[in-house]
Amino acid sequence: MKTRFLALLLAAVSVLCLVGCTPSVDIPDAEKETCIYSAQWLGRLIRYDLTNKKATVVCPDPACEHKDCTATDVDKYCVGDDHIVYVRKKGAASTVYCYYISKGELVKIMDCEYTQVPIIGGSFAYFAAANIEYDEAGKPLGRKWHIYKYNMETNELRALTQAPVPVNQGPRPEKITETNIFWQDETGGYTTDLEYQNRQPSDYHSGMIRDYEQHFEVVWGENAIYTFNITAENLVTGEIHDMVKGAYWYRLDFFDDPKGVIFTEYKNGDPITELKYVSFDTFETRKLCDAPEGYCISQMVSASWEHRYVGDYVGIYVKRLGSTSEHGEEMMIVNVTTGENFIISP
Ligand SMILES: [Zn+2]
Repeated sequence: MKTRFLALLLAAVSVLCLVGCTPSVDIPDAEKETCIYSAQWLGRLIRYDLTNKKATVVCPDPACEHKDCTATDVDKYCVGDDHIVYVRKKGAASTVYCYYISKGELVKIMDCEYTQVPIIGGSFAYFAAANIEYDEAGKPLGRKWHIYKYNMETNELRALTQAPVPVNQGPRPEKITETNIFWQDETGGYTTDLEYQNRQPSDYHSGMIRDYEQHFEVVWGENAIYTFNITAENLVTGEIHDMVKGAYWYRLDFFDDPKGVIFTEYKNGDPITELKYVSFDTFETRKLCDAPEGYCISQMVSASWEHRYVGDYVGIYVKRLGSTSEHGEEMMIVNVTTGENFIISP
């Protein structure tokens, strides 16, 4: 199980991705129905509005040029119904913010040295944050992790842990229900209640989708190029289905209830223009679409658990052909049923 999870992590890390999280359990409001929120690798947090096809920076100051503001250097984020809880990382300092979508207001939650990705459940946000602690002689004792619960209605922040969680990387929330949070850290998976009490071991991880568990295999090729094979094991029947062979990158389409996997294939270093799709229902691979003329698909994809979708649409970063930078902000919005697509540029 460790190997499998490691492969999943590797897949995510290897594409230099940002991590987002599963959305909160409440029903999305109209605002969220039409927008995708995304930040490239330490980039600006941007709202892509599918209705008017406009992209705007998620910044409370209308006069701001967003060169070095609260919406820049965004490292991790989680989008709820009317809130985005996100982490801005500048050097060795991180700041956690809560942005109120309908009010356009920003509240600072806390400063810390490092965080894991937050998760939102109802009107609460949960996250692990760390600071470096020192002994009396000033010698660093390393990162000390605590779990925090933030009430987005009252702005009250509470540490749920008395003593630090004894891990190096910090617990990452994988999923939240009305009663539990599922966590992963280097010691494995476990679940707690919403006060981080009653810890119990858990096999749940982000590769488990309905009745299926995904197995990821990394295949190293020439020139240190590696690709992924993905199989899905039916946890009820034990049947194993080939999902993806030779994917250069991949992502689940809808993380909280994915219908399938979107992926690209490596073509001798040529620009990648074609998206492919395999569904959980049929396990048949089909072409989803080509990038619009003059564009190719950016290698900067999201983590498999980052949700960047609304309705039938998913957001895929693209770049202009010939561009060497992967850090652009242009997003291709693709309908995963029909392949219909368009680009939104900030
Ligand atoms: Zn700004």
